[in-house]
Amino acid sequence: GYRSRAAYKLKQLDDLENVISGGDTVVDLGAAPGGWLQVAAEKVGPQGAVIGVDLQRIKDLDDSSLNDRIETIRGDMTEEKTRERVVDAAGGSVDAVISDMAPNMSGEYSLDQARSLHLARQAFETALELLDTGGNFVVKVFEGPDVDDFRADVEDEFQYVRATAPKASRDESSEIYLVAKGRLTAPVRAGD
Ligand code: SAM
Repeated sequence: GYRSRAAYKLKQLDDLENVISGGDTVVDLGAAPGGWLQVAAEKVGPQGAVIGVDLQRIKDLDDSSLNDRIETIRGDMTEEKTRERVVDAAGGSVDAVISDMAPNMSGEYSLDQARSLHLARQAFETALELLDTGGNFVVKVFEGPDVDDFRADVEDEFQYVRATAPKASRDESSEIYLVAKGRLTAPVRAGD
């Protein structure tokens, strides 16, 4: 079984939009407890690799064949040093960056929404640092007035962007996923 209900959201997103293919290298941001990691490791297959990052420690999966495709990093994606560790772990070409990061809920929607958008923008910056031309990006964000500006920024970098609310997350109705396909340019990294 899957470690989180979130696993079904990634399955639905991927069924609709085909973000992950066999042999891909995928970076999964906000990966604990590991539901998306399980789905991504299945999708990339034995030739693929998945790097999972979270503030929380991510326990190894029971299935050793999936575990062999997964590397985990414990760290804060808002810190430059964590992003550097992710770039190092990826070691070059990345085909998809997927982010399910969410803030700790304060209960005050405008604050939680602002924090969610901040995490989504960090994920976007990381995607721009990592993704090859043609690469895909999925990011969760809580709905709010400034999401349109964020979406416009993502649209500038990809062939197209769709916003979807997977059935599996309907009860948390404020969250949407932006699915961006086909990065238009290649990453520019320090030292290139
Ligand atoms: N996709 C996961 C799964 O399928 O198991 C569930 C992810 S959960 C909804 C959101 C995660 O984002 C939490 O585990 C949280 O620790 C992580 N997170 C929040 N802020 C973060 C940050 N600044 N850096 C890294 N991870 C963060």
